[in-house]
Amino acid sequence: MAKMYYEVDANLELLKGKVIAVMGYGSQGHAQAQNLKDSGLKVLIGLRPGSARWKRAEEAGFEVMTVSEAAARADVIQILLPDETQSKVYENEIRQHLTSGKALVFSHGFNIHFGQIVPPSDVDVFMVAPKSPGHLVRRTYTEGAGVPSLIAVHQDATGKAKELALAYAKGIGSTKAGVLETTFGEETETDLFGEQAVLCGGTSELVKAGFETLVAAGYQPEIAYFECMHELKLIVDLMYEGGLSWMRYSVSDTAQYGDMTVGKRIVNDETRKEMKKVLTEIQDGTFAKNWLLENQANRPAFNAMARREENHLIEKVGEQLRGMMSWLKKHE
Ligand code: NDP
Ligand code: MG
Ligand code: MG
Repeated sequence: MAKMYYEVDANLELLKGKVIAVMGYGSQGHAQAQNLKDSGLKVLIGLRPGSARWKRAEEAGFEVMTVSEAAARADVIQILLPDETQSKVYENEIRQHLTSGKALVFSHGFNIHFGQIVPPSDVDVFMVAPKSPGHLVRRTYTEGAGVPSLIAVHQDATGKAKELALAYAKGIGSTKAGVLETTFGEETETDLFGEQAVLCGGTSELVKAGFETLVAAGYQPEIAYFECMHELKLIVDLMYEGGLSWMRYSVSDTAQYGDMTVGKRIVNDETRKEMKKVLTEIQDGTFAKNWLLENQANRPAFNAMARREENHLIEKVGEQLRGMMSWLKKHE
């Protein structure tokens, strides 16, 4: 089992007197920056000129500047830009300011693990990765709590990289919840696998396949939507709160019997074999290469697939039905 770190294991003083530049003010950027500031640390925000978020960050009380200016002034540089743009921004605006003894920080290991960013050997390189979207990182902090985070050290030039990672984790509130140590490789590969095989890829296709099966058999698309998409949240919430056992305790015995007898026919040996293949393609860099090339080519396949997915019947039906749900936020 992984070792856990809590409040007493981390010393915020290590970051006091240092300047932290948070590059990006999106989901993670706005949350981590505000938490660090409220923890009494000095935080600058690096953005590109013209960014709509520039003003928002200023209104939150930050000094906002270009990535290159922030990198020049900072001791600790946290890159919270989209993963596919990080290496270019690093080359153009960060690298020349990454002088000896500074620290480079990430919340996802992709660019380091797949060699897209190769920092000089005399800087610390570590990761503090909250296991939650940014708004929850911020909300839990304001409520006096925090979300769990992973930390990892890629390069320890100063001999203090791990302690700095723990201090940073404390600054964003994570040592209140618990911090686990991992490696850049483990974090990157498991993150990609999880989103591809289970969370995003696996779930989307499972939902669509169930929906399509019912509709093809002549059932009304609206009913199929409720059964295969809408109700998923109720089940996932139960799993999230108390694991599979709590979910199974909460549903009817009929549902549980169906779950335990039929689930294995849907996710079967062939599915598991394919999952193993997907994992291999993540580990050997095939997926990373494809995604990086796709971005270099301005995303032709990404755009085509996204358009096709948006036009699926389940999306049309869902939009209409969600209009009946007054409690839902509207999403364009
Ligand atoms: P977002 O897309 O929410 O935000 C990205 C930020 O980068 C925005 O402020 C954007 O500002 C800015 N930006 C984009 N391009 C540039 C550029 N060329 N120069 C300067 N600024 C730029 O990203 P996330 O917060 O989702 O992700 C950040 C990191 O955190 C990633 O490594 C991700 O893997 C990781 N992470 C994300 C989680 C999440 O829940 N979202 C969870 C855990 C880790 P603008 O477009 O206005 O210029
Ligand atoms: Mg991910
Ligand atoms: Mg039902």
